[in-house]
Amino acid sequence: MGLLLKVFIPLLGLAMAFYFYSATENFSEEMLRGKRVIVTGASSGIGEQMAYHLARMEAHLLLTARTEAKLQQVVKRCLELGAASAHYVSGSMEDTTFPEVVVKEAENTWGGLDMLILNHIGHSYFKFFNGDVGHVRKLLETNFLSYVAMATSALPMLKESEGSIVVVSSLAGKVASPFAAPYSATKFALDGFFSSLRQEFLIDKVNVSITVCILGYINTDNAVRAVSHAIRGTPAPKEECALEIIKSGALRQRELHYPYRMVGSLLLLQGIAPDLLDSFLRNSYKVENIQR
Ligand code: NDP
Repeated sequence: MGLLLKVFIPLLGLAMAFYFYSATENFSEEMLRGKRVIVTGASSGIGEQMAYHLARMEAHLLLTARTEAKLQQVVKRCLELGAASAHYVSGSMEDTTFPEVVVKEAENTWGGLDMLILNHIGHSYFKFFNGDVGHVRKLLETNFLSYVAMATSALPMLKESEGSIVVVSSLAGKVASPFAAPYSATKFALDGFFSSLRQEFLIDKVNVSITVCILGYINTDNAVRAVSHAIRGTPAPKEECALEIIKSGALRQRELHYPYRMVGSLLLLQGIAPDLLDSFLRNSYKVENIQR
């Protein structure tokens, strides 16, 4: 285990970092100027930071989340930063009619759409699975089914613009870690659905890109509050993470791995030695701090 941590994982990480660096060096902020972009979960965390980057790049923005007061502040800041336009629709993705409401708002306002960034998540817990099936069902609605519904409603506009869908997922949607069973299930579902859809788009020559973002631990207030007592390791910065998500969508990449070294090397290890990876992950938690 010591050799793995000290030599093998860093070496794999370096190789992955080089690969992703060369993939993103073609990005230019001009790519987003004047583009019409929806960002969900934009009232805080990574979604809020994506809104600010896109505003600096002079995109048109439609932001959504539940908390109207926070969205108003984010919209105001986006306009100060240079957004071509910025407005919001507030509501909950637990409401099965809301995804379509958001997409309709884009259609009524802009008559089209270039990029759909699906980023929101509902509240879950970080502890041993507590047997609450109702919670899993509710979380699937918010974290998975609303993504499917939004992408489906937005598809005619995205086909027209040859646009992009960006799905913000997690390492927990590729590698099963303990203590986040409901959350992890919703993120695996996203990968299954959107990776399958990508294949169908290629078969049908539909020129809409799908980027699935596989994120490690990021320093958003909510994430740090939920897991810092239980995770060894330092979170990566949300500002940089948000920029990398936008770049990967604009470059129409299949996947983003962020932070590159950590996520890339763990995914490589999964293919080579899955039991070793599982053991490594179990050892990376302070199990004594986790509620049963
Ligand atoms: P935050 O908790 O900071 O933000 C979540 C956003 O979703 C907020 O804008 C929140 O706003 C909104 N939201 C919550 N519930 C609902 C709901 N029912 N309907 C509509 N919107 C809702 O999350 P992060 O920024 O940390 O994470 C963003 C994305 O990155 C997520 O997809 C997450 O899985 C992924 N990720 C994050 C990691 C991390 O360590 N931070 C690690 C791996 C992946 P409001 O409460 O106003 O509705």
